[in-house]
Amino acid sequence: MFEILFLGTSASAPSVHRGLSSQVVMHDEYRFLIDCGEGTQRQILQAGIGFKRLNRILITHGHLDHILGLAGLLSTFSRWEAIEELEIFSGRWALERIHDLLYGVVLRGARPPIAIHLREIQPGVFFDKPDFKVTAFPVQHRGPDCYGYLFEEHARRPFLVEQADRLAIPPGPWRRDLVNGQEVTLPDGRRIHPDQVLDSERQGTRLVHVGDVGRTSDLVDICHQADVLVIEATYLQDEADMARDFAHLTARQAAELALQAGVKQLILTHISRRYRERDVLAEAQAIFPATHVARDFDHFQVRRGECIKVDTLKE
Ligand SMILES: [Zn+2]
Ligand SMILES: [Zn+2]
Repeated sequence: MFEILFLGTSASAPSVHRGLSSQVVMHDEYRFLIDCGEGTQRQILQAGIGFKRLNRILITHGHLDHILGLAGLLSTFSRWEAIEELEIFSGRWALERIHDLLYGVVLRGARPPIAIHLREIQPGVFFDKPDFKVTAFPVQHRGPDCYGYLFEEHARRPFLVEQADRLAIPPGPWRRDLVNGQEVTLPDGRRIHPDQVLDSERQGTRLVHVGDVGRTSDLVDICHQADVLVIEATYLQDEADMARDFAHLTARQAAELALQAGVKQLILTHISRRYRERDVLAEAQAIFPATHVARDFDHFQVRRGECIKVDTLKE
């Protein structure tokens, strides 16, 4: 299961109700802050999730509404939060700008109080753990090296407990090895093959996050049958020309992508102050009914085949 908590859902500038782009994706003990617009640290406090383990930050691109919050976050981390190192992943162009912001403005020659790792990513898997991985994929927006992120649990074969009981396989290392796909010899001498106790392979949960983007034609494959697609919808179709000029999407374009890719749930973010939320929702739902327009502090649990809105975590 993945969880996503929206910290800021406004495009370009904050509004009374929406902070600038930022969200946290969580999987067990892992947390990934995606983008860090100005004001993100206050949103973190307000969400009640704390700063712990928020030391891995993925940036979609280098526009200021997605990165300015890094300066304040570093300043706070270095003063009183128990974070020893900070990893920031992004494409090169954004990383250069982040470097200027952190080293040129925040630190100005001072030694970083915590280890800062600026990690340039390339398309492909850049974070891989036994039960999930994160893949970066290029997206087209203004400026080079913009990325979207796919969070994906590894496919697995569920263990058939009743079947194992019927075969009288004792608990302990034999079952563990079978779960891991290894043949075992039981104390009574019988050999058991994993196929005898493992169900057919199930695809893992998939969550796709796309930040600012002006073109969807090259995203259909990566979004294919995702359990949730989080993507910007900065404009409405009335202003499709402007959307094109600034390399953003309309709500309708985002919904058409969701439909084409066969995703289960669409969540729109990066919402402009120029529109009413219900108009954004209506335009998207006319094409793709399973659409939600994210608000700050919306929190979802995403499992294979379902995406449930829950009350925000309070620690
Ligand atoms: Zn933006
Ligand atoms: Zn942008």
